[in-house]
Amino acid sequence: MTQLPAQPSEPTLPSSSALVATLEELYQRYLPLRDGKVADYIPELAKMNPDCFSICIATVDGQVYEVGDSEQLFTIQSISKVFVHGLALEDYGRERLLTKVGVEPTGDAFNAIVLDEQSKRPYNPMVNAGAIAITSLIKGADATEKLNRMLDMFRRYVGHDIFIDVATYVSERSTGDRNRAMGYLMHHFGMIEDPVDDALDLYFQQCSLMVNCRDLAVMAATLANQGVNPQTGDRAVEAGYVRDILSVMYTCGMYNFAGEWAYLVGLPAKSGVCGGIIAIVPDQIGIAVFSPPLDFRGNSVRGVKVCEALSHQFGLHLFDSSRGCHNFLKHWSVK
Ligand code: GLU
Repeated sequence: MTQLPAQPSEPTLPSSSALVATLEELYQRYLPLRDGKVADYIPELAKMNPDCFSICIATVDGQVYEVGDSEQLFTIQSISKVFVHGLALEDYGRERLLTKVGVEPTGDAFNAIVLDEQSKRPYNPMVNAGAIAITSLIKGADATEKLNRMLDMFRRYVGHDIFIDVATYVSERSTGDRNRAMGYLMHHFGMIEDPVDDALDLYFQQCSLMVNCRDLAVMAATLANQGVNPQTGDRAVEAGYVRDILSVMYTCGMYNFAGEWAYLVGLPAKSGVCGGIIAIVPDQIGIAVFSPPLDFRGNSVRGVKVCEALSHQFGLHLFDSSRGCHNFLKHWSVK
């Protein structure tokens, strides 16, 4: 009789652990919060269920703690910008990339049509203009090779294959004139090369990748783990670029709430109009929250509340040396 090869063993999830109980308590605390509105400027996004809610924490040793709808798939949207920034850093290097896209927060909306007056660079890789410029720089002989390189990169972060939601992609593309306007403006100033439409297409595709909250937590934990996926051991990004990625997340990752977020929560983070937020506690954990209703700036209402509470409760603010952020894993005895 043929013997089936042994399956790789799953990391054990201590479902009854105190950490899960704490996440469950946060979930119950914010479940009744009904503020905010699901994004509807892209028709497909308007179909998201406002009641979906999940909180996940992945540790740098590969454990995942999850509550709520952690397997519900949704499109990654702007959270993709973080990871594509990393790929562009690998393709171009820090110095060269900086000549094309700045690292200054804008204080403007994510889709503002604005470039730095003097350099004509988009302000940073986390706003749409900067992200489109970053995506236009991804190397590859043609559109297919560029997309495949991007999918490979995302696969390393997530630890499994990752797919585009075609309906969202088509919806993004058919309502994407504002992004198109930015692309052509940057092309006019020599910041994006031909063909502009290929770059825009790749950008719409990256925004339409399907993930769930657990995937996002593992991706965040990969950044917390210096670029190595803690579950598969695969390197997703060169360790030397993790600091670049996290710095830009810290100053620009939460739309025009980034300053207040840095002040209150104190963690590098990124949100997307899907209602997802990731936050990173370097060398410790990746946090992901998913809840589609957004505030007027585009951040998940419940997501912001949960992250504020986690940061406060566990002392995660990076600059609060009296608190526990350096000892999260020890505190929960999960390492
Ligand atoms: N696809 C979205 C757009 O470009 C991404 C927006 C976001 O999540 O911030 O409009």
